[in-house]
Amino acid sequence: AAMRDTRTKKTKTVCTFCGVGCSFEVWTKDHEILKIEPSENAPVNSVSTCVKGKFGWDFVNSPERITSPLIRKGDMFVEASWEEALDLVAEKLGGIKDTYGSDALGFISSSKVTNEENYLVQKLTRQVFGTNNVDNCSRYCQSPASWGLQQTGGIGGDSGSIKDIAGAGLVILVGCAPAEGHPVLATRIKRAHKLHGQKLITVDVRRHEMADRADLFVRPKQGTDYVWLSAITKYMIDQGWHDETFIQQHVNQYDEFINMISPYTLEEAEKITGISKENLIQMAEMIRAADGTAICWGMGVTQNIAGSYTSVAIANLLLATGNMMRKNAGAFPLRGHNNVQGAADMGTMPNIFPGYQSVVNDEIRAKFEKAYGVTLPAKQGLDNIEMLEAIEKGQMKAMYIVGEDMAWVDADSNHTQDMLSKLDFLVVQEIFLTTTAKFADVILPGAPSLEKEGTFTNTERRVQRLYQALELTGDSKPDWWILQAVANRMGFNWGYEHPSEIFAEMASLTPFFSHCNYDVLEGWNSFTWGSPDGTDTPVLYLNGFNFPDKKARFGLFDYVPPVEFPKEFDLSLDNGRLLEHFHEGNLTHKSEGLQYKFPKVFVEVSPELAKERGVKDGALVRLVSPYGAIRVPVLVTDRMEGKTVYVPMHSSSHESAVNLLTGGAVDVVTHTPAYKQTKVRMEVLEAE
Ligand code: SF4
Repeated sequence: AAMRDTRTKKTKTVCTFCGVGCSFEVWTKDHEILKIEPSENAPVNSVSTCVKGKFGWDFVNSPERITSPLIRKGDMFVEASWEEALDLVAEKLGGIKDTYGSDALGFISSSKVTNEENYLVQKLTRQVFGTNNVDNCSRYCQSPASWGLQQTGGIGGDSGSIKDIAGAGLVILVGCAPAEGHPVLATRIKRAHKLHGQKLITVDVRRHEMADRADLFVRPKQGTDYVWLSAITKYMIDQGWHDETFIQQHVNQYDEFINMISPYTLEEAEKITGISKENLIQMAEMIRAADGTAICWGMGVTQNIAGSYTSVAIANLLLATGNMMRKNAGAFPLRGHNNVQGAADMGTMPNIFPGYQSVVNDEIRAKFEKAYGVTLPAKQGLDNIEMLEAIEKGQMKAMYIVGEDMAWVDADSNHTQDMLSKLDFLVVQEIFLTTTAKFADVILPGAPSLEKEGTFTNTERRVQRLYQALELTGDSKPDWWILQAVANRMGFNWGYEHPSEIFAEMASLTPFFSHCNYDVLEGWNSFTWGSPDGTDTPVLYLNGFNFPDKKARFGLFDYVPPVEFPKEFDLSLDNGRLLEHFHEGNLTHKSEGLQYKFPKVFVEVSPELAKERGVKDGALVRLVSPYGAIRVPVLVTDRMEGKTVYVPMHSSSHESAVNLLTGGAVDVVTHTPAYKQTKVRMEVLEAE
């Protein structure tokens, strides 16, 4: 009956809450969201959705949306016209460029805006402002995984599709909690486990839902995953349980690799990781017995000082056992945000153009120079950690941040906020007045996914279109429109009338996408990039690895032990997601239903620790790290064991935001903050 009302319409969209990439139809009437209707046509999720995808959309109509450009006047923001706001942005950024040079500017793109918008952020940075100082939030999460996979197989993305995870004989989850972070993917694993005899191993410091369901659950000491991965690989090679033929045909550096992992005996691994020798052998036996092993990993692996090397160790294990170059097996870093894969694919990183093409390669740079009609910088730019350092040194004067709440998302929030306040000029393109936006000089109101067109790329490299379901709110604009307006204010002549034209330009410069366009992506259709010839590639490497000799390489990077903390910080702090919320909560805290279920964050404490410290459920404690302190209520739970505590990341309150505790250590290669290597002490404020 509802459809008879002509104002009711159905629009296909792609979920904006996680990297699984569910698509569905949203029913709307004027600006009201009536319901979410899943469809059998959806390539990833079919008729499934999770609580966020189904009920999390109220934020779009929140009265807190920013609906017109805002300009800072003293301590206040004053509404402005687009003319005034854009003039000011161009004048200030142009002025800083002229006075201090292009590298005094830094740009941060977003894993929540579309591919087309990410493409334009890198183009604005490089063509218009002449610097490679551009980055996105994959720096905070999955850069180490991408790097590890590039080193070993040549492509920094999932080696297969979600179907291959569901079809694997064995799934190993390392440092990821998909029932909370990637719910529909977790449903696929649960179903395969229950109905199709799939085996499941969960490796985590926290006994989350997928640990409860696993055939084997082990808790390593924080930051030691590299060791058990290498020990199992060595043990399997020693036992002759590896795939010698596969290695001989397809993998380089075998002898060097055997040499490198020789110290990692089971005894040594038990000592370092705390996982018993029996459990290590059991894991090896399960890999040996399985028809296809898929390893999924998340930030429990990557947010460590050597998350990149641990990602390599995962790839090494898969290569040694012949679990690459085939279906129903492989390497699956689970991308957190809906478009974190796409943001990196589109080149919003300091070292690459779209499609992972190096900025220091003369031939590639010449191609982009020809297309952009300017000389482009020949040296790699700064990542977002280095940008903060450059602010501290007085070298970076202005930033332009699109849809990223850096002030809470970066580790050591107090420091990040100090740095943002030092900038001469800050532009923030946002839909809400986030903490980062509060530091801005100009805020440009962007649009959420339901109010615009474009594409997102999910964790399995699948590109999907979203269509405009709602009219723009107030004076807000699609983010691509804003970026174009800034470029044109700077004297360029971008003339995109629709995101399809931006996509076509990107594809013409990017071999991986050469066979992809909006027609290929029409409706429920999708495209999976990954083949050098630019065709659809759900499973990578079936025709060889992405190196000139088509062979993979064992990665030869050794273990780096966790960061040391002074003794008084005696508790290991884990942090991560809850099912009901998304990230720092800027969106889901504005959704009444989700907010009702989990209004406040807390600290999960093991029964042993609760007893030792004399605290009960609801007690109030202060957690203190070398970087800051928070106050949170206690939840006593056997999800935790011993002296490891867990705080969800979904708060941006100065009382309880976990990144007030996390610190300055970063991954040795990619500079991803070691969020998971944080130690705290606990002061009891109220015992119950
Ligand atoms: Fe959205 Fe992820 Fe839930 Fe799917 S699993 S509906 S993409 S939040």
